[in-house]
Amino acid sequence: MSFPTPLVTRFAPSPTGLLHLGHAYSALFASAAVRSNGRFLLRIEDIDRGRCRPEFETALMEDLAWLGLEWERPPRRQSEHMDDYREAIGRLAARDLIYPCFCTRKEILAEIAGMGSAPHGPDGPLYPGTCRHLSGERRRRRLEEGDPFALRLDIRRAIAATGPLSWTDRGRGTVEAAPHIFGDVVLARKDTPASYHLAVSVDDHLQGVTLVCRGEDLFPSTHVHRLLQALLGLDTPEYHHHPLIAGEDGQRLAKRTHAPTLRSLREGGATPEDIRRRLGFSGPG
Ligand code: GLU
Repeated sequence: MSFPTPLVTRFAPSPTGLLHLGHAYSALFASAAVRSNGRFLLRIEDIDRGRCRPEFETALMEDLAWLGLEWERPPRRQSEHMDDYREAIGRLAARDLIYPCFCTRKEILAEIAGMGSAPHGPDGPLYPGTCRHLSGERRRRRLEEGDPFALRLDIRRAIAATGPLSWTDRGRGTVEAAPHIFGDVVLARKDTPASYHLAVSVDDHLQGVTLVCRGEDLFPSTHVHRLLQALLGLDTPEYHHHPLIAGEDGQRLAKRTHAPTLRSLREGGATPEDIRRRLGFSGPG
């Protein structure tokens, strides 16, 4: 007799502000995906210590509980797992797939301006690869001098190491991975052992996530996550990138478009059921 494998999904907010309706949609979407057969996890993405605040973490858990969501305790807090990310970086370094980049933002922009036409990726112009060509001696000297640096993935070597990759998206079917669109993406910095891309790939694996539900805005990032999974021997979950919901003015709901926070809606008298109905998730779960 065979039993269906339970789905494991997660909601992974960064505690940099109060949750708004867009977050509520994403959390409800993920929770609904596993309602009858699966586990719903919470991950606090607090690697960026400068922008994350404990009070926002407390607030987001209160808001999710108020909405009626239940997640497995305790949540995974990225700031408590820096060693996991360091270990992953160490493995990439051992295979010579990453290199330190000492360029400042200003230097990168100047270099790009001098190039005339520079290829662009989802986050803007691609890094021109300046530090990829530094000699071993020069690298060593700059590291010894204590210069700040970012660790970049040598995307060409990485792709050559894995060959073609794909993943399954519930909305789009089989997607061929195209990680080169990000160029030599940053995976860590001198004082931060992981970028978003690295931490998410490692965490989804370690948390046993089998279905990643998240907004369409993160769809391009999955190209890089798929590559990191292959390089690091991590499991590849299924994905479901959901459409982003728009406010009454048609604008995408986000912090910068002043989407209403769950807190303000609640203070204005909205009930959890009102929010669920407004977002199309009526009923328990
Ligand atoms: N922490 C990310 C965000 O708040 C979400 C990451 C993910 O779901 O992969 O946008």
